[in-house]
Amino acid sequence: MSRTILVTICAAIFLVQVVYGDGTGTGFDYSEGPHGPEHWGGICLTGTRQSPIDIVKSDIVAENSLEPLKTQYVPDDASITRNPTNLQLEVQADPKIPFGTLTLQKDQLLDNSGQRLDGVVFDPNTTYTLGKFHFHAPSEHTINGQSFPLEMHLVHSNTAGTKTVIGILFKEGAENEFLAEFWNFLPNLTTTPNTTIDLSKLPLGSSYARYEGSLTTPNCSETVHWIVLLNDKITMSTAQIAAYKKYFPNANNRPIQPLNGRKVVMYGTFPSNFVDSSSSSSARTSKAASSFWIGLLLSGLIYNSIKSLFTL
Ligand SMILES: [Zn+2]
Repeated sequence: MSRTILVTICAAIFLVQVVYGDGTGTGFDYSEGPHGPEHWGGICLTGTRQSPIDIVKSDIVAENSLEPLKTQYVPDDASITRNPTNLQLEVQADPKIPFGTLTLQKDQLLDNSGQRLDGVVFDPNTTYTLGKFHFHAPSEHTINGQSFPLEMHLVHSNTAGTKTVIGILFKEGAENEFLAEFWNFLPNLTTTPNTTIDLSKLPLGSSYARYEGSLTTPNCSETVHWIVLLNDKITMSTAQIAAYKKYFPNANNRPIQPLNGRKVVMYGTFPSNFVDSSSSSSARTSKAASSFWIGLLLSGLIYNSIKSLFTL
């Protein structure tokens, strides 16, 4: 009898290990608790090229030699599921027919001087297949410290196991026609409905930031070429944000990781309206500082005028 109890306890411990893991596999979450980002373990904690990062306009190096993105996406049947571990909405292409491909040019892996971006081992297999995409809310990457309501990750893989992820940041604004095609499935995700996804309805724009980083979930493998679109025209409506939050109420964004001297290069132009400068803390600080100095100057002028009136 006691042996049965012992076996049962061991089996229970084993199951807990399998389900919750040790912070390096499944069973992670985004809380401040024992499974939160501070406890993900392994390379998530010790790595030096982790993602996401804050993309700061003044730190970006413009690379004239970079090429526009070369994507070939085709409409495809897809399954839409709720991933309870990652708190993510996942859209998976038919395994036999992927959503399409992204082909990286050699220049997209190098900087202006022909040097590889920090830490990149040049992989000659530059055709990446898009099999799935998912969402994080709020965004994982930030621009000049500013977060966005939603970030979409288009996860491309090549046969060597390297990944190229395109990160798309959604601003609050007009309804997004692409999201509208499958957002109405949100209430019924447990039934895994099938629908056709047409990524060509999501104009990517021409400007992007490139850096070398990692997966943003355990095991945080540092094998990702990151492309974060610098496109201020991609919006979603307040209703679309609310619909997502209703079914995914918990945040699933990993905290910003240190750059550790990595280069962030840019193709195209940095859209002037991408971030709201009035809400940027540095802009607020400099605005407040200039108001203070103008105020001080005016007070001095007024004081001197009044003083001269009385001395005359
Ligand atoms: Zn992701």
